Amino acid sequence: MKKNDEIILSISGYTAEGSGVGKYEGMAVFVPLTAVGDTVKVKILKVKKTYAYGKVLEIMKSANCRTENDCSAFSRCGGCVFRHISYKAELKAKENRIRETIKRIGGVDLAPQPIMFDSENRYRNKAQYPVNSEGKAGFFATHSHRIIQNSNCLLQPEIFESLVKTVENWIEKYKISIYNEEKHQGLLRHIYIRQGAVTKEIMVTLVINGEALPFSEELISALRETDKDDLKSVQININKDDTNVILGDKCVTLFGTDYITDILCGVKIRLSPLSFYQVNHTMAQKLYKKAAEYGKVEGKTVLDLYCGAGTIGLSLAHKAKRVIGVEIIPEAIEDAKYNAKENDIENAEFFCMDATEFAEKSSKENLKADVIVVDPPRKGLTEELILTIAESFCPERVVYVSCDVGTLARDIKIFEQKGYKLKEYTPADLFPRTAHCECVALLVKE
Ligand code: SAH
Repeated sequence: MKKNDEIILSISGYTAEGSGVGKYEGMAVFVPLTAVGDTVKVKILKVKKTYAYGKVLEIMKSANCRTENDCSAFSRCGGCVFRHISYKAELKAKENRIRETIKRIGGVDLAPQPIMFDSENRYRNKAQYPVNSEGKAGFFATHSHRIIQNSNCLLQPEIFESLVKTVENWIEKYKISIYNEEKHQGLLRHIYIRQGAVTKEIMVTLVINGEALPFSEELISALRETDKDDLKSVQININKDDTNVILGDKCVTLFGTDYITDILCGVKIRLSPLSFYQVNHTMAQKLYKKAAEYGKVEGKTVLDLYCGAGTIGLSLAHKAKRVIGVEIIPEAIEDAKYNAKENDIENAEFFCMDATEFAEKSSKENLKADVIVVDPPRKGLTEELILTIAESFCPERVVYVSCDVGTLARDIKIFEQKGYKLKEYTPADLFPRTAHCECVALLVKE
């Protein structure tokens, strides 16, 4: 096989990025925007040793699961990868991929519990829109910083579109300068909107390459006209770095409060622009409920590692004897402590530290934990942390909340070698239409 070849391919699976995969002369060929069951004519774009990339020239036989795409930005925007197949087929694909990965990398052949899911559209409570040189908002294309104009993303609440349009009109009227990434010049970088799923409170933050926003009074009154009742906070976030990272670490409130509030699993949560908060509220509640069920935390001491603003631990605190949360970002720990106080939770403590370091230090100080919950970023746990958990703490149960099944599976393998058994796991689709999927796993001491 070589570049520019045209081949006929049957699609039999999906990659972790959501591309279709078919086998051709022993090679795996990855083709975006195809569906399991398709027969497609493919042009080969790039050939590696054991796999190749291609693009569809023609759908010769269309899979039954294909659906009408309902977003004009789909296939160009880097967000969704599954708008061309039914949600049912997407869920099946995610469940299969998780099962296969846990078998292949984790070495455990165990069927998952049925995948948990809710609505596939309008599920997000947060959006960060880059702004193009014409002052229009959108999203980045796949693996690129090209902006695909789109203010009506079907994953966001409808009100976000009106707020984005308001900002776009203000940009045009007052000729606000737009940030240019290549030249590292210009002011406005991103429009960032967050809404409490339960409270409906809205926070609009403009990320700027500067210290102050011109015509801010005009912006505030236009935003307040767009949503009189729910707009609670308008802020600027200062990011003057020549970087891909969206947010800088300083925010200034221009209107309303520094925070909005939401309620998660019955716990009031304070959110600043910088706080980590699950973007899919309904599914986060289902996920945390499952984590609570797996943890059997009644009367137990729970260690909540990678705790963010404390959401998992705080949602367990009324059942547990004691909750100890650990997180590396100081602001998140401040939020966690504040959230505990606001909710009159007195049996939760929070520490700002690297999770591995905390575990090593506290196990030496004889801290006992009956249940350990971990919710690491995509790179998963360190091997040292797994060893400290398995050899020093030896909790009855480890509940592993994961946003990357590859690292989850890698870590499960180490836990299994150290005397823990993967008892059960449940995929949870917090990110419908995208390639991502969460998973919660229960490991029990043998
Ligand atoms: N459990 C929380 C947050 C999960 S996101 C929730 O459900 O809301 C993962 C968290 O791990 C982030 O808040 C991140 O800041 C934190 N983190 C990343 N590296 C860490 C480390 N080495 N030690 C402790 N926390 C870390």
